[in-house]
Amino acid sequence: MLLLNVPYAEKDEAKSLGAKWNPKFKKWYVTNSKDYYKFIKWFEEDYEERFLICDYIYLVSKNRKCPYCGFENNEIKVMITEYYNFYFEPDNDGEFYEYCSGADSPRIIDLSPAKRLIKGKVLNFLKINYNIDLVNGRLSQHCKFCDRQIKISPSFDFGIHSLEETKYFTLYKIPIKEDVFLDNVGWCSTDEYIYTYSKKIVV
Ligand SMILES: [Zn+2]
Repeated sequence: MLLLNVPYAEKDEAKSLGAKWNPKFKKWYVTNSKDYYKFIKWFEEDYEERFLICDYIYLVSKNRKCPYCGFENNEIKVMITEYYNFYFEPDNDGEFYEYCSGADSPRIIDLSPAKRLIKGKVLNFLKINYNIDLVNGRLSQHCKFCDRQIKISPSFDFGIHSLEETKYFTLYKIPIKEDVFLDNVGWCSTDEYIYTYSKKIVV
C-alpha cells in the first residue's frame, strides 16, 4: 500500500485512476505497485532520485563478534528486491523528465538509511531476535551477552569474495504494511550472490 498526497481539488482525478480513500490516515492510497507510476505527481516531497520499496524486505544477518566481550552477536542489514527507482534526467532540450524503472537487482542497504522501513513487524523481529530497538529515533543494538551497546556501523562489510562465504548469511523475508520511499540506496556487485545463495527464511 502506498499513501498519496492528493490535494482536495484533485481527488476526483486520483479516484478515477484507481486511488482509494483511507479514513484512518485520511489520505488516498494505491495498493497495486504496478500502478504506482500513474500517481507520481502525488508522491511525497521533492527529490532527485529515490527508491520506492514495495511489499516485503529481507533482513540480512551475519555473525559478528562483540568488540567488548568477544561473543558472537549478529550484524543486520536490509535487502530490497521489490522496488522502483524514480529519477530525473534531462532530455535534449535540457528539460528534466521523471523516469521510473523496476528493480533490476537485489540491493543491501545499511539499517540507518533504511530506518523508515524499521517499524511494525520488522521492528518487532529486530527487538526479539537481535536486541535492536529505536531509542529517541535512533537505532540501537545491545550485546545479548554483556549488554553493552554495540555500534551499528554503516561500514561493516557485507561484501563477499567467494560463494563459499554466502553460508554465513541468513535472509529473513518480512512483509511490510506500507510501502516506503528511501533515498541513498547503495549497491554492491556481490549483493545478488548473497541473495541467490544464502539461506532464506520466511517470517
Ligand atoms: Zn558483548
